[in-house]
Amino acid sequence: YSNFTTIDTNDSDKLLGGLLANGFDEDSCLSRYQSVLYRKPSPYKPSPYLVSKLRNYEMFHKRCGPGTESYKKALKQLDQDHIDGYGECKYVVWVSFSGLGNRILSLASVFLYALLTHRVLLVDRGKDMDDLFCEPFPGMSWLLPLDFPLTSQFDELNQQSSRCYGHMLKNQAINAEKTLSHLYLHLIHDYGDHDKMFFCQEDQTLIGKVPWLIVKTDNYFVPSLWLIPGFDDELDKLFPQKETVFHHLGRYLFHPGNQVWGLVTRYYEAYLSHADEKIGIQVRVFDVGAGPFQHVMDQISACTRKEKLLPEVVEERSHQVKTPKLKAVLVTSLSSGYSENLKSMYWEYPTSTGEIIGVHQPSQEGYQQTEKKMHNGKALAEMYLLSMTDNLVTSAWSTFGYVAQGLGGLKPWILFKPENRTAPDPACGRAMSMEPCFHAPPFYDCKAKTGIDTGKLVPHVRHCEDMSWGLKLV
Ligand code: GDP
Repeated sequence: YSNFTTIDTNDSDKLLGGLLANGFDEDSCLSRYQSVLYRKPSPYKPSPYLVSKLRNYEMFHKRCGPGTESYKKALKQLDQDHIDGYGECKYVVWVSFSGLGNRILSLASVFLYALLTHRVLLVDRGKDMDDLFCEPFPGMSWLLPLDFPLTSQFDELNQQSSRCYGHMLKNQAINAEKTLSHLYLHLIHDYGDHDKMFFCQEDQTLIGKVPWLIVKTDNYFVPSLWLIPGFDDELDKLFPQKETVFHHLGRYLFHPGNQVWGLVTRYYEAYLSHADEKIGIQVRVFDVGAGPFQHVMDQISACTRKEKLLPEVVEERSHQVKTPKLKAVLVTSLSSGYSENLKSMYWEYPTSTGEIIGVHQPSQEGYQQTEKKMHNGKALAEMYLLSMTDNLVTSAWSTFGYVAQGLGGLKPWILFKPENRTAPDPACGRAMSMEPCFHAPPFYDCKAKTGIDTGKLVPHVRHCEDMSWGLKLV
């Protein structure tokens, strides 16, 4: 990497317009300051307000983080059911849960919640969070200490847990006079109406007093935070460009560790860096049965042809192009079939434009293996590589694709979800914004206490392109 460290990127670039803090040890996390060398500069700048909020958070995290006096004091509160008096620091613990894309999105959501509610974020490392990512905050770990007293209960936490907020509400076990020492927030896609009360202002006031929150979620719940009256002003100030929430928070929080960064950079240098244009195609098939499927292949061809992302092939090339353009196509998929098919096609026939098309797929893991470290390392490397492309095609419903588009600042073309093993028409459509979709939002009017279409309340929170009941920021 030594040739990179000598490249003189000016500081504001290297720190992504002030998004990143200065003064980290560069060697322990190469990706933090090197990412900028692999990407086009983002057209989206973080607001000065967000930058100052992050710097303040970092100081706060350092003051309250694991090992500090404040942390020890806060831990003592867990010995009792209720607390008397307040400590200096309150915490929100993110519990490792679900696939990697889901985890990245849910962690970003919980961090934003921590920023909004003045809490310290602590990360349950699960199987591999400590290997996959660098520390994002200077001088103090974000990892939950291994001896945290409630860790052994994390696996069993569910809607029926005695300290689950929704469960307590349902059973009228919440006493507003007394403040609990900890609460479990169940925000997983299968959650119920009582759990969803988390998104109501009044409930937030109550939850806000509890020093320890344990959260399990597999969702990007940011769009619904915007609908809570106590948060919306602050969110407007933090993100004047509303569709940049994950773009900025993702680039701030998720720096691949050195092993994954090696996967990213070696692949990039070998297969992508020389191309005139880079196209990413993320294929995620939710149908049962082993792929590849013909209808998905047809859909990819129809989309890339219609949107002019890739040229058509012809029987014979009529004229020679002097210096043909090289397009690199990066395909990510659990199955190797789609890229093999594209690769053969562009080998066997010339293109109508004379462009040369190179097709590359880093891995073909066959099936999801969330428990394995290298498997997740490859998944992260691939999301990252996709984010470095110029144009991106993603699959409907996939958080894997959302992460790539958000990190890259790319508005993808979404391959709509096939029904009954048939390619939809149109095959794909351009996303309204680069934000991820919240797949399981609440549809409740907290004031009127009735159901309501939360996708129709404000212009910047809308239903998603790929999931009609989902919500996203635009
Ligand atoms: P989602 O299910 O598409 O929303 O994305 P997740 O990342 O949450 O879960 C899917 C998991 O399957 C990933 O984390 C990977 O473990 C695996 N996976 C799916 N697609 C790919 C792929 O294209 N490449 C690799 N390496 N893994 C994949």
